[in-house]
Amino acid sequence: MDIKDHIRGIPDFPKPGILFYDISTLLAHPDAWSVALGRLANDVRKLQPDVLAGVESRGFLVAAPLALKLGCGFVMLRKKGKLPGKTIRHEYSLEYGTDTIEIQEDAIQPGQRVVILDDLLATGGTMCAGVDLLRKVGGNVTGAAAIIELNFLPGRQRLSDMNVPCSTLVAYD
Ligand code: IMP
Repeated sequence: MDIKDHIRGIPDFPKPGILFYDISTLLAHPDAWSVALGRLANDVRKLQPDVLAGVESRGFLVAAPLALKLGCGFVMLRKKGKLPGKTIRHEYSLEYGTDTIEIQEDAIQPGQRVVILDDLLATGGTMCAGVDLLRKVGGNVTGAAAIIELNFLPGRQRLSDMNVPCSTLVAYD
C-alpha cells in the first residue's frame, strides 16, 4: 500500500504559498492508518523505547496508538499553558511563525529511552525543541519518527546534529 495515496496536499494553508500535507484522509481510512502505524511500529521498535513522546496535537494521534502497540508509556509535549503542575518550556521557530512547547518536569524517569513522534518533519524546529525538553527532564532520546518528511527543509539534518536518528514513512521533494 502506498501511504501517499491517503495524504492530500492542500495549497495555500495556513498561508499563501504553503502546501499543507493533510493526514485527515489517512486517519479516516482505518486500513491505511493501520498499515502506516504498523510500519512506524517496526521502525520505532528498533530504537527500544521505554516511552514515546508526542507533540501536540497531531503527534498525539501518532504516538498514543503506537505506545500501546509497543507496550511503552506515552508522554505529552503540549502547547504553552495546557499542562498542570511544574513544567518546563521551549520556544522554537516553525515553518511559519514561532511556537512554545512544554513538558511536565516529572514526565520521564531519569535515563528512560524516549522516541519523539509527530505527523510531519519540516524544518525540525518542533522535534528539536521536543528533544531539548526531553533531555532537560532526564530522557535518553534514542530517535525520532514521523509519517511525513519534507526533503527540501533541514529537519533530518538538524536532528542528526543533535545525534537523533529519524525514521519517516513518506517524503516529499
Ligand atoms: P517543523 O517544526 O518546521 O519541523 O514543522 C513541523 C510541525 O509543523 C509539526 O508539528 C507539523 O504538525 C506542523 N506542520 C508543518 N507543515 C505541515 C504540513 O504540511 N502538514 C501538517 N503539519 C505541518
